[in-house]
Amino acid sequence: MTKPTPLIAGNWKMNGTAASVVEARAIAAQVSGQAVRVAICPPTTLIDRMSQALAGSSVIVGAQDCRCEETGAFTGDVSAEMLADAGARLVILGHSERREGYRETDELVAKKVLAALRWGLEPVVCVGETLDQRTAGEALAVVTKQVMGSLPGELKDQRFAVAYEPVWAIGTGLTPTTPEIEEMHRAIRAILSEMFGPQGEAVPILYGGSVKPSNAAEILHAAEVGGALVGGASLKAADFLAIIGAL
Ligand code: PEP
Repeated sequence: MTKPTPLIAGNWKMNGTAASVVEARAIAAQVSGQAVRVAICPPTTLIDRMSQALAGSSVIVGAQDCRCEETGAFTGDVSAEMLADAGARLVILGHSERREGYRETDELVAKKVLAALRWGLEPVVCVGETLDQRTAGEALAVVTKQVMGSLPGELKDQRFAVAYEPVWAIGTGLTPTTPEIEEMHRAIRAILSEMFGPQGEAVPILYGGSVKPSNAAEILHAAEVGGALVGGASLKAADFLAIIGAL
């Protein structure tokens, strides 16, 4: 079985202006080697500036979403081509804040994945259940449906990652127990293997939701956890570096 190279990605969400690039530089200055891949996904306005600031470093600059169409009358939106043109190499898709706030469906997320692939962006596809769904015992079924519906067959032989992010753990300080994380990651691994064969064994499955320096080591060493998608704690270089260092 090919073990995936871990990926730790920071999702800055709607935080950051030009002054914040200094945090990204501080992260890049400390990151080297091949044991872990590190990505920072700033707001769209910073992608170009950050790509230039981090040129020559191993840190990957990513985006937080893209439109699935190539061009058109979609005021305020950005295409995958635009993101790649600005310097992005990776894109987070299907984040729960988009699934909830913009009613994004699995079908739409799958179309966005195709757009990302057309422009050479590595998709990081997010899935995760709400608290109500977990309480009702539906977490595994919900996540299974999301994984199967959001990952198109065209991902075969392409580089991508899946991020398991329980909605109730995002930005709340709450996290599932390690056995709960492992149960879900094992289930996702089984689906990936079914869908993509041996390639499915090498897809990193990130955990996301209130990862911080104090819990990173336990989460990152849990079975089938191939890295982390980090929101709040990725905004400060010291915290993000501590999480990376916990691997
Ligand atoms: C996220 O939004 O992807 C996330 C994991 O946020 P946080 O780390 O702040 O919970």
